[in-house]
Amino acid sequence: METMNTTDIIDRIESVIGPREAFTPLHIPIFDEREVELLRECVESNMVSSVGAFGNRFEAALADYTGAKRVVLCVNGTSALHLALRVTGVQPGDEVMLPSLSFVATANAVRYAGAVPHFVDVREAHFGMDPAALQSRLEAIGEQRDGGLFNRETGRPIRCVVPMHAFGHPVLISELLAVAKRFGLALVEDAAESLGSFYEGRHTGTFGDCGTLSFNGNKVITTGGGGALLFNDDALADRAKYLSTTAKRPHKWEFFHDELGYNYRMPALNAAMGCAQMEKLSGMLKQKRALAARYAEAFADLDGVRFVTEPPGCQSNYWLNALVLQSDSIETRNAILDATNAGNIMTRPIWTPLHALPMYADCPRGTLDVTRSLAKRIINIPSTAGLGR
Ligand SMILES: *Cc1c(COP(=O)(O)O)cnc(C)c1O
Repeated sequence: METMNTTDIIDRIESVIGPREAFTPLHIPIFDEREVELLRECVESNMVSSVGAFGNRFEAALADYTGAKRVVLCVNGTSALHLALRVTGVQPGDEVMLPSLSFVATANAVRYAGAVPHFVDVREAHFGMDPAALQSRLEAIGEQRDGGLFNRETGRPIRCVVPMHAFGHPVLISELLAVAKRFGLALVEDAAESLGSFYEGRHTGTFGDCGTLSFNGNKVITTGGGGALLFNDDALADRAKYLSTTAKRPHKWEFFHDELGYNYRMPALNAAMGCAQMEKLSGMLKQKRALAARYAEAFADLDGVRFVTEPPGCQSNYWLNALVLQSDSIETRNAILDATNAGNIMTRPIWTPLHALPMYADCPRGTLDVTRSLAKRIINIPSTAGLGR
């Protein structure tokens, strides 16, 4: 084994992706004539907005692929999360348990629902919410009364748990569900990054009361912007669709809205792109897995750095490949980020933990030791499907 330095890392990335004359982005979408063809068909149909065949078609393709009973499209992953929290019963003033190590959208959606994020630590291996940390936090601050769980320190009800499948690696969803059930909490999976990832053969986002996907430009497949909710329950799905279309009561000509709804329905133009992207999903996932396998091999003999591979019993989409440094010196990480980005290889650190952002600094939290450490040690490396063939 060798001990890692910056040059070793660059050499190994280069051995996989090829020489660095040209800039290699972190993750870019793959398009061909098919997207253009379906977009043209959509434009020519004149049904480019929130009604039209493409929405239903994309929903059916997603239901078929994920095994979810029902799919409801949304304008983006954040609005999907917002609706997921609304339909699973999160009320203003509630607390929602989520990882601090996530993209800001997870906490923003909680705030949009008027609720308060409550941060829980993650596991070192795959960065997902730690079931043991969730359990011990709920035991420490939770109190069952009036038919629900309350935070005895803040007095607020705790309503829901939102784990996130980081970079496409499934969390320990069965264990998290068991903890949520034990405490009587709803569970929403933020599966924004994990289309194409399976936990014990079942697609991520289909375990809890609801799961959400994102089709932002940097995700596994993209619709420009877009999102979706996955349900196994018809009533919840109907309610999400209703809220996403301004809560309008069906009628031949009357405009009557019987509660506060949203204009969150994905336009048909975006759905048309989604239909084209779904046709290439399996092929792209194969390429992404092959790329990850080559990285894993390239980094196997290097001490001081771990290339993240899928959890046991799981199939990851390898959305973003990640290195974890052993050293938690931020200087080491930054030196690698500087050298790679200066050398035409785009790399990025993981997000600043949410509890360290100004608008979430005062939120309740458990111990976040693993989160704090991982935040200084993770580097994402180029991950586009088809790279390094
Ligand atoms: C991308 C992402 C979202 C939000 O998706 P948008 O479509 O960008 O709104 C939510 N959570 C996580 C973890 C994400 O990576």
